[in-house]
Amino acid sequence: MYYNDDTVIYFNGNFIKAKDAGTDLYGQSLHYGYSVFEGIKSYSTEYGTKIFKAKEHYERLKKSADLMHIPFDYSVEQLTDLTYELLEKNGFSDAYIRPLVTCSPNMSLSKGKESYLSLLAWEWNNGYLADQMKIMTSEFQRPNPKAFKVEAKVGGHYVNSILACQDAKDKGYDEALVLDESGNVAESSGANVFFEKDGVLYTPAKGSILPGITRQTVMEICNEFDIPVKETFFKPEEMRGADAGFFCGTAAEIAALDSLDDVPFTKNWEDTVSKKVQQAYLRRVRLLSL
Ligand code: PMP
Repeated sequence: MYYNDDTVIYFNGNFIKAKDAGTDLYGQSLHYGYSVFEGIKSYSTEYGTKIFKAKEHYERLKKSADLMHIPFDYSVEQLTDLTYELLEKNGFSDAYIRPLVTCSPNMSLSKGKESYLSLLAWEWNNGYLADQMKIMTSEFQRPNPKAFKVEAKVGGHYVNSILACQDAKDKGYDEALVLDESGNVAESSGANVFFEKDGVLYTPAKGSILPGITRQTVMEICNEFDIPVKETFFKPEEMRGADAGFFCGTAAEIAALDSLDDVPFTKNWEDTVSKKVQQAYLRRVRLLSL
């Protein structure tokens, strides 16, 4: 479902067929999760296919590699150009793009010596989360920032996301709300979170979250609409029963929440400022003005 016999990927200097690509079994990326990656979306616009916030995503990829001591020499411009080339070769417009940086064969716990860049893409028209999600506070915490570089998007980090997300699904919820080690709300398994109260949006301050590019875009939109936003630490109790809430991320876009721990958000989504932000975001990714 991610690729077929004709799908083209970029791998370490060449465009090759996805079906012909392989990976080395003797590497730290596979064994220890020592890889960095991005999740990017491209959209069909009246000016052609446009990658949303390519610069921000590729700057974060380079920063993630740097924080992990993985050598990675591509420039943001090279990465962006290669991605447009990849989309063109596959004939994709609305797509999800997954750049992945893995390390050369080495089973020790030393720093990366050499890295390989893969660029994968598949067609995608929707966010990965439905609107009106029922979410639960997870018993899994986000990784302690003193044990990990939480602002880096690293493969191994997502084992925690899988555990939290699957636990929520096993318990009958759509997604997990994950707390930091002090019990403050951090984020979801793969998206940032906001809640709305009396026309003000609240989102967890940086520290135990992946500072999302969509989160930043939401704050830009709020600034343009004069919607007050507070970056602060708060407990799930403060979020439960608020007017509205949403998850946001490149893949999630803006996904409305129905309830937290079975306590519904109280306002009709259509009447919230969050809905205004959602609409503005969906226009912005297609380069339409607010
Ligand atoms: N938090 C986590 C853990 C994520 O995986 C993502 C998705 N990359 C986000 C937040 C949202 O980040 P962005 O808006 O940059 O996609």
